[in-house]
Amino acid sequence: MKNKIAQIEERINRAKKILIISHISPDGDSIGSILGFGFGIRKKYSNKIIDIAVADMISTRYSFLELQEIYYTKSTEKYDLVFVLDCGDIKRAGMEIEESKIINIDHHITNTEYGNIAIVNPKASSTSEIIMEILKYMNIEIDKVMAESLYTGITTDTGSFKYSNTTATTHRLVAELIETGIDINKISTALYQNRSFKTIELMKEAIENMEVFFDRKIVFLEITESMLKRCNATAKDSDMLVEFLRDILGVEISITTKPMEDEIKVSMRSKLYADVSKIAKKFGGGGHIQAAGFTSSIELDELKKLLIEESKKEIKK
Ligand code: 5GP
Ligand code: MN
Repeated sequence: MKNKIAQIEERINRAKKILIISHISPDGDSIGSILGFGFGIRKKYSNKIIDIAVADMISTRYSFLELQEIYYTKSTEKYDLVFVLDCGDIKRAGMEIEESKIINIDHHITNTEYGNIAIVNPKASSTSEIIMEILKYMNIEIDKVMAESLYTGITTDTGSFKYSNTTATTHRLVAELIETGIDINKISTALYQNRSFKTIELMKEAIENMEVFFDRKIVFLEITESMLKRCNATAKDSDMLVEFLRDILGVEISITTKPMEDEIKVSMRSKLYADVSKIAKKFGGGGHIQAAGFTSSIELDELKKLLIEESKKEIKK
């Protein structure tokens, strides 16, 4: 890691314009890591142009962070160096980037190690955790604003420190973030205790329409356009349903599908032991052991059958 960070610093020194991005459909770790890293290297390299961007809409869930610093772009031509954070597959960056310009920093077990330099650590809870270690190597002090972002990345990717990716290192790093004076109650309230009535309506739809398989160990929900319409919700609003269903007693794997342009977007979560990234990989996607996804053009009934079959293989009898 030390060696790679020296190489990264050398690339930064040679660059004039630097871009920091994450994946489409950005989550807390995407936003947290690009802001934390962006603010950090802006402090050390104040003579460089350092932009932070994503090629997608950002959920209002993260509006307590410095989202005005993140601009929308799909173009990377003017940059000499592009940091791609938390993005397991370069196809999910949502923009074309010359391979030689890319520095890939991620924790997805399915990361394809693309880019000129890749720091991939699947043992890290989140990309934000890896960013913290990198900032330390670079001797960049983590201030309160950076800490809020990085804390958001870590708490969201660990399911508030519930998932098995939470380690002693995670807690030690988080202790340092808290020591900067961040208000974790404010962050937790913004992230987890702000459910809109629209979301509650969606939960009601989920309960009414979910299907259970394999002794209730697998839950499947087809999120339809009409369901979203009834709740006056967008597909984005329904992102949390897969986790809501996974949290039911005895459920090991939850799966949701939703229409996305001409394709179907599949989200999967597991609770104790099933590896959903293995399933997602079979369909061309990826993710983590306990959270994975992909998009598919397979027709829904067929896709559902295949997903249930593959999920059963991951379930212990
Ligand atoms: P979500 O279900 O929240 O969209 O995604 C869960 C996890 O799977 C995230 O870590 C995300 O990066 C990963 N993931 C979701 N969709 C895809 C995909 O199409 N390709 C890859 N490689 N990973 C995905
Ligand atoms: Mn992540």
